[in-house]
Amino acid sequence: MKKFDIPEKYKSSIIGEIKEKRKESDRMKKDFSPSLLEFEGVDFVLARHFGFCFGVENAVEKVYRILDEYPDNNIYLLSQMIHNPTVNEDLLDRGIQFIMDTKGNQHIPWEDITSEDIVIIPAFGTTLEIEKILREKNISIENYDTTCPFVEKVWNRSEKLGEKDYTIIIHGKAAHEETRATFSHSSENGKSIIVKDIKEAKLLAQFIDKQLPKEYFYSFFEGKYSDGFDPYIDLDRVGVVNQTTMLATETHEISQYFKDKMSEIYGEKDLKNHFADTRDTLCYATNDNQKATLELMKEEGDFAVVVGGYNSSNTMHLVELLEQKFGTFFVQNVSRIESKSCINHFDIHKKEELTSDFISKFDTKKLRIIITCGASCPDSVLNQVIEKIVKIVNEA
Ligand code: SF4
Repeated sequence: MKKFDIPEKYKSSIIGEIKEKRKESDRMKKDFSPSLLEFEGVDFVLARHFGFCFGVENAVEKVYRILDEYPDNNIYLLSQMIHNPTVNEDLLDRGIQFIMDTKGNQHIPWEDITSEDIVIIPAFGTTLEIEKILREKNISIENYDTTCPFVEKVWNRSEKLGEKDYTIIIHGKAAHEETRATFSHSSENGKSIIVKDIKEAKLLAQFIDKQLPKEYFYSFFEGKYSDGFDPYIDLDRVGVVNQTTMLATETHEISQYFKDKMSEIYGEKDLKNHFADTRDTLCYATNDNQKATLELMKEEGDFAVVVGGYNSSNTMHLVELLEQKFGTFFVQNVSRIESKSCINHFDIHKKEELTSDFISKFDTKKLRIIITCGASCPDSVLNQVIEKIVKIVNEA
């Protein structure tokens, strides 16, 4: 895979060495077992795959290069470049401005942006509507586009489904930049609808055989279906794509659910006419990181630590998996760990940061901590968390 030139501050010599060693001994990426890092008083069971993915490294390399090459231009990012506060804060310090927040709320009016300015499209991609605005302003899109190729792959898949007259069901989070971009592109190719989870998928499926009134569809899925969508007509022939960072098992469950439903309504013989049996559109990094996390779950440990941005979808799914077995602390960086008895960590269900007792409550000779991080987390941030834990474990 291509090597990128990312700033030194995001690298870690220790983590880099571990990754390199594991890569050398497992070129075909068949071994998902974790690595063991042993320190005085604490062992870390570290996931086989974690940290900056292809799309993130590509975006980071491009953005820092643009900053170096155009010191005198106004440089904007449509929104956060990736969902990591350490990286985003550094970009803000370097003078980059975010036009929108992650939910699409405008912070800098389009009128303030001119053709002299540089507007960078983040790794999640953007909507056709925003591309149109940039073109109308004579702002180059191609030169400053960091859209991940794995996101474009989803757009291509939805285009193919649309060409064959399938309605595109997108398994994703409607407010997430990537899903907004995918929805915009897929709506251009065919009827499209977003479902958040299996619960919403099951609800949607009830409109196929008209079990629920149309009005209910329009209120429940408001803002999540393409123009002119008729649930009694447009769910007759469907295919599923997904946000690249969803939970693999859930996407498969959704896909299987629609397949079974179509088979039940139209019969096995006619299934192909009503359901496009395609593979999911999760990216390789989501698959690798989730598989490596499932391997972590076969291990024993006192608790788990997951490092990453609190709005990072792929990181949240790692937390979701690990908390099925371990007490799990989700921290965005080292600053959230205060002492042996105080850690500030994000609760993905309550959607808020909580403060808890930390390692002081574990009465053990040597701690064993399960650890990983998301695809947008720099190795250096993970390294700092490990170093801080080692330090406080060994404090008198
Ligand atoms: S998580 Fe996947 S889709 Fe997203 S930037 Fe990384 S490689 Fe691309």
